Amino acid sequence: MPGHDRVLVVDDALFDLHAATANHPERPARLDAARAGLRAAGLSTEQLPPVDAARALLSRVHAEPYLNRLDDLRGARGMLDPDTYMSPRSIDAAVRAAGGVGAIGAALATGESLRGIALVRPPCHHALPNKAMGFCLLNNIAVGAEAARAAGARRVAIVDIDVHHGNGTQAIYWRDPDVLYLSMHQHPFYPGTGDLRERGEGPGLGSTINVPLSEGADDAVYANAVEEVVTPAVRAFRPDVVLVSAGFDAFVADPLAGMAVTAEGFAFVVSAIGRAADDVGAPVGMVLEGGYDLAGLEECMRAASRALMGEGARDPRDHPMSGRHRVEIERAAAAREGT
Ligand SMILES: [Zn+2]
Repeated sequence: MPGHDRVLVVDDALFDLHAATANHPERPARLDAARAGLRAAGLSTEQLPPVDAARALLSRVHAEPYLNRLDDLRGARGMLDPDTYMSPRSIDAAVRAAGGVGAIGAALATGESLRGIALVRPPCHHALPNKAMGFCLLNNIAVGAEAARAAGARRVAIVDIDVHHGNGTQAIYWRDPDVLYLSMHQHPFYPGTGDLRERGEGPGLGSTINVPLSEGADDAVYANAVEEVVTPAVRAFRPDVVLVSAGFDAFVADPLAGMAVTAEGFAFVVSAIGRAADDVGAPVGMVLEGGYDLAGLEECMRAASRALMGEGARDPRDHPMSGRHRVEIERAAAAREGT
């Protein structure tokens, strides 16, 4: 395979112990599907040892009262918000998931590798500084960005391709000019944020970029959006590290969302992000977020992991696209350029 030859991976059996009592879409079988996809990709992997996120690192992202509350809730079962369950080992799993993404962020920042994949649960991008939300307890990718900065990275770009807007990550970096938060997502949709006009504030104005796309967006829409808005923004920002909130719930058969992206489409998106990162000399870490169709998650993870390593992907940009989606992409490109 052309491109990069080795990828750092974090995974741990503890993530499987975050489990609801009743049927819930965010279930342990998801991670098994992602693992199977990564195995099928046949990459040369190097496992990083599982590690809990240090309190000092979590404190860079989350408020003390919230971290204290999670500590108090260890071992309990319950609901942290209407969508977010907690089983007896969920807090332990969340702290280890955040630690794993932190380890990837630090390893990328110090040049240990140019590619990383975090196979973690629970997911993270809805988690706010002071509360759990939308299946997410701790904001793993922000912890990864903070670990990268602590290890010497000055600027970090977070590219969120999960079908939902990452309101938690956006809130954490709303006023921060050194972390670019870029999201492509279904809109209007849960959690309601991610409008084009949300661009950050104060010193962070312009370092939040949203690409809201209406229902039905397919490979052509995502491919055009990534090349017209996302990769130019990554190249212009010149990050030291790129982290991808890799949710695969824009997949065509996903039960929670209404997009129509295939595994090939995700491969194009990830390879485009990888090329942009290579152009500015930034390593890339891919962090598992959503994706609720098990077969789709496996297939998308296989395709996206190979694309992350530099395998070429079929370019669907010249496929027919609705006028509505064309307008949405052009508006997002104009908003990015501040016009
Ligand atoms: Zn999602």
